[in-house]
Amino acid sequence: MTSSHRLLLENAQQVVLVCVRGERFLTGSALRSLAVLEGASVVVGTDGLIKAVGPAAVIQSQFSGETFEERIDCSGKCILPGLVDAHTHPVWAGERVHEFAMKLAGATYMDIHQAGGGINFTVEHTRQASEEELFCSFQQRLQCMMRAGTTLVECKSGYGLNLETELKMLRVIERARRELHLSLSATYCGAHSVPKGKTAVEAADDIINHHLPRLKELSRNGDLHVDNIDVFCEKGVFDLDTTRRILEGGKKMGLQINFHGDELHPMKAAELGAELGAQAISHLEEVSDEGIAAMAAARCSAVLLPTTAYMLRLKQPRARKMLDEGVIVALGSDFNPNAYCFSMMGTFDLPVWRPS
Ligand SMILES: [Zn+2]
Repeated sequence: MTSSHRLLLENAQQVVLVCVRGERFLTGSALRSLAVLEGASVVVGTDGLIKAVGPAAVIQSQFSGETFEERIDCSGKCILPGLVDAHTHPVWAGERVHEFAMKLAGATYMDIHQAGGGINFTVEHTRQASEEELFCSFQQRLQCMMRAGTTLVECKSGYGLNLETELKMLRVIERARRELHLSLSATYCGAHSVPKGKTAVEAADDIINHHLPRLKELSRNGDLHVDNIDVFCEKGVFDLDTTRRILEGGKKMGLQINFHGDELHPMKAAELGAELGAQAISHLEEVSDEGIAAMAAARCSAVLLPTTAYMLRLKQPRARKMLDEGVIVALGSDFNPNAYCFSMMGTFDLPVWRPS
């Protein structure tokens, strides 16, 4: 009996497997010896999953007599896994292109923030936008990311800050997860900024006492799938103590910790994340040496965002040191109104890898 498969990718010059023993990540010197097959083919089954990868001649004899809905000659080409964008803020309304002129004139993130621009501008527009409007622009952004090779996107809420709009954003992410052909990891980021009229402590209380219980209820009913909890741990935003309270609250309800730390000022966020068993910490432009060592020991991933450091004219994170010390290093586009980058390939070109 012959079986049928969806796709045969034949005779690729290279197939990049990254790893061959099912490792979830590679660190240190293992990164210098990625698993790459030369002259190989890939078989994709009717369920969309990869059925076989191997030398072209072996695949040819193993699958001789079987049918394929489509065959693609990949001679002279390289087959890569889909790219993972580990940090994005893709659901929002209100363009902020006018701020680029302010930045070129020397304004910092905090100058713009204090001039009524920045995140507060996006929060106002996102609160006013309808769910449909937010979904449409989100869908277009995801399509741009897919065209640039991204197949898994971590997507944050965080432009609502009040419960109603945070849930609206998470519902938009949930709808995309169900309707679109790419994988999403959803992050509740209600502590992205301190909302106007509240102190950081009041905002943290509101999150712990109102937002998280409601999220838990919606997750239990299967209405929302939230994977991670995020906080912007930064001087003048959420300090280390309020960050800890919020992250612990999220962890208690089963969310993975994945937060913004040590971006504009050294905060000891890396040390905190390692202590709490965080899955990942993003940014880390100002991480300490102790923080790097703690992250390596705790197997906590560093999500580096070279685009943001470039746009905000920050120093680039110390990627080379992190790699040498055995930290798991991932990349994100940090797509947001302030860092308009859809392409993971674009992040590879920025000077984050230079030894510092
Ligand atoms: Zn971010």
